[in-house]
Amino acid sequence: MMRDSRYDILFEPVKIGPVTAPNRFYQVPHASGMTNALPRVRAAFREAKAEGGWGVICTGACSIHPTSDDAPLPFASLWDLRDIKAHALMTEAVHRHGALAGVELWHGGASVMNRVTRTPPLSPSGIPWMATHVGFMGNLKPRTMDKSDIRDVLRWQAEAALRARSAGFDIVYVYAGMGYLGYEFLMPEYNHRTDEYGGSIENRVRFVREMIEVTKDAVGQHCGVALRISLEELRSRPGRHQPSEAHEVIELLAEVPDLFDVKMDSSPTDCAPSRFAPEGSHEPVIDFVKRMTKKPVVGVGRFTSPDSMVSQIRRGVLDLIGGARPSIADPFLPAKIREGRLDEIRECIGCNICISSWHDGVPVRCTQNPTAGEEWRRGWHPERVRPAARKSKVLIVGAGPAGLECALTLGRRGHEVMLADEAEELGGRLRFETRLPGLSAWRRVVEYRLGRLNEMTNVSLFPASRLGVDEIIDIAPDHLVLATGARWTKMLYSPLEIPVGQIDGPGVFTPDDIADGRIPEGPVVLFDFDNYYMGGVLAEHLAGMGLDVHYVTPAGHASAWTIMSNELPLVHRALTRRGVPVTTLRTVAGFDGEAVRLSHLFTGEVTQIAARSLVIVGLRSPRDELYRELTARMAELKAAGVSSIERIGDALAPGAIVHAVYSGHKLAQELGQEVRPARRDTPFGEEEFAPQTEAAE
Ligand code: ADP
Ligand code: SF4
Repeated sequence: MMRDSRYDILFEPVKIGPVTAPNRFYQVPHASGMTNALPRVRAAFREAKAEGGWGVICTGACSIHPTSDDAPLPFASLWDLRDIKAHALMTEAVHRHGALAGVELWHGGASVMNRVTRTPPLSPSGIPWMATHVGFMGNLKPRTMDKSDIRDVLRWQAEAALRARSAGFDIVYVYAGMGYLGYEFLMPEYNHRTDEYGGSIENRVRFVREMIEVTKDAVGQHCGVALRISLEELRSRPGRHQPSEAHEVIELLAEVPDLFDVKMDSSPTDCAPSRFAPEGSHEPVIDFVKRMTKKPVVGVGRFTSPDSMVSQIRRGVLDLIGGARPSIADPFLPAKIREGRLDEIRECIGCNICISSWHDGVPVRCTQNPTAGEEWRRGWHPERVRPAARKSKVLIVGAGPAGLECALTLGRRGHEVMLADEAEELGGRLRFETRLPGLSAWRRVVEYRLGRLNEMTNVSLFPASRLGVDEIIDIAPDHLVLATGARWTKMLYSPLEIPVGQIDGPGVFTPDDIADGRIPEGPVVLFDFDNYYMGGVLAEHLAGMGLDVHYVTPAGHASAWTIMSNELPLVHRALTRRGVPVTTLRTVAGFDGEAVRLSHLFTGEVTQIAARSLVIVGLRSPRDELYRELTARMAELKAAGVSSIERIGDALAPGAIVHAVYSGHKLAQELGQEVRPARRDTPFGEEEFAPQTEAAE
């Protein structure tokens, strides 16, 4: 297919100091959860994107010195020569495809706890970040840097830049964002200094300027030097002679770095979930930067549409289209635009499961792209699958995320696939969930897969087809896959934090009842111990229908797990906006149709809330009746030629959509194949550190 000439502009090269990006697709630094301890996993993950056409591929945060130690959160390092080889593996992989490799050198300042290196964190004025979430809380406060500390950090940056060049990087970063050290010097709340590094904006910018200068002195002849800077807070503060302090900072640094990488200040706004922020949500904060510098500007905004990308460039907002999540969901996004295969783009849904992987301290996982992080471990490729050695007839029952992904991957492998669902509309749980407030972008999970499946001649789709054992015996597939999903239960929750007992009655509902169109009578108590999005979003939905809703949870926050996906603060805001009160640390002790009795999780104190309905969003259990009936009639199935019955997704173990997609993909990759265990990556050993001297220039 031919590319639409409207998109030619996206494929123009862009000069970044002494190096040139081959096109405008720029994979900005983003956490991968793959530290230097997983060098092959990391190199293969980044390589897939270079192969898919991204012109620049960057690492995630890469610590310049042991005083910047974010453990147990995963981060890369360039602390000494021993770190070089792990990075060189990635730069070589990226260069194989003609892309540039960038490294986000990073010092976390007061926002790291140095839990492993056990050195007091460094900060401009001893002011800590005192997070409200336990995952980011720490009891060690930072110390104030004196002039010799500042000189040390500048030297560490320069030395790390030299090591970065030895590792083969083409772009080297200075980081002044997201609460880290450079940012702390810019912000008066962190920076109370009275010397030349504090006070006026010129003084607060000095440290960042010097960081850029030492980096340029070290590697600027060969590498582009980028400044990554958060502008959200600065933009909200009026400047002395410019509209904001952000303008003044950019004005002061306008021609100092070779590239500006501009972003927001906190993870929930920077990597905003689609539930609460549209594509391009950074624009109102960063739109002015290009007008103040001749240097190229890159920024992000969950861009998946080539039209919005072109618009960013034509309107003078950005020079390079930054992508983190879109590049994870579809490493081949640029190639698909280049080749006019827009329908094949696997668009990021903005669910932020990828971010949750970093918060979990593990390699990245993605809802849309089940191969992310598995390129080296399992040999999975985001676009290519191994053709089946022997083609089989496979029947999949259930067309939710698991069934759809399984059908797609089996179809690509060349099997004859039948995908049946009792519902008229395919999509499983997403049929209902994508109609809930803010979740429409999640529809892309279904659309991407249905789009591809409809093109395949070896895949047949059977909507409105409820299958039982007799029908399955009639069809007589070689392999049967059950993707029949799960049901929400009416289980309650004990003070031991275990689901116990059941509550039932005319006024007791689950999300499935609401999906089926039953409308609870208000006032409603929604009791949530699932802790992911469903409780919060359903409360929003019911309140949006005009019902008086009270949200109750045994956790400390509404939708407590969503701290992992950057949604939690926004969930609270949304509930407040809809007038939904939130009561935490309470379990449901009883409901008589007039009131819900609550018990305090820790003290047992009993209170009550008037309610005509109780909606329980708690435990899900597999919908496995069909499986049980089938296993009771195994002999008949065998006689009909059915050689295997497998369960995938929620029908096996209820989980998030990411788990269902992964489960469907894995089975499809492995069906009829000898299953090898995933490969284990190892760090490079001492003896493998080639360079003997601090080399470079
Ligand atoms: P998952 O997240 O694991 O993909 P979902 O709950 O989203 O699971 O999807 C399960 C799908 O299976 C639903 O669309 C449901 O209608 C369908 N299903 C369940 N049992 C049967 C059956 N016996 N015949 C056909 N479709 C079924
Ligand atoms: Fe996008 Fe979700 Fe994949 Fe992250 S996990 S890249 S937000 S689809």
